Amino acid sequence: MANHNFDSEASIRDARLKGYTVEKILTEFGVKPASNRQWKSFECPFCHCKKANVFPHEGIRLFKCMFNACSSDGKAMAEPQLIARLSNLTDREGFIQYLKMAGVWKDVGKIPLKHPTSNIQTEARPATPTATERPANGSLPEA
Ligand SMILES: [Zn+2]
Repeated sequence: MANHNFDSEASIRDARLKGYTVEKILTEFGVKPASNRQWKSFECPFCHCKKANVFPHEGIRLFKCMFNACSSDGKAMAEPQLIARLSNLTDREGFIQYLKMAGVWKDVGKIPLKHPTSNIQTEARPATPTATERPANGSLPEA
């Protein structure tokens, strides 16, 4: 499998260096920080509770909503996952979208999509007659 020398980690770093942080993504999606301009206890774009936070983690910042029943499932998300969730994309699509937003997307050639190259023949299955028809029990077992 060709790798295309595409370094996804480096691309994400480039995007972050351009200022495309979690906060920037949130802003682009119309999410606003709390009234004190802090990205703490702000309105979650998923559940709209004021329980969303951005917190530092290993040199980057992640989004996380503290509301138990939030559709984000309490997941801590970096930029690509956040975009994916906000746009209903797969993580992979979110990742590409993120790099495109930041302008660091390099067309690494056509990523081959799965398409059938061989004739898939529908297997002729022997018909299995399921003739075990049970007569429905007329009486309902009510307690
Ligand atoms: Zn939430």
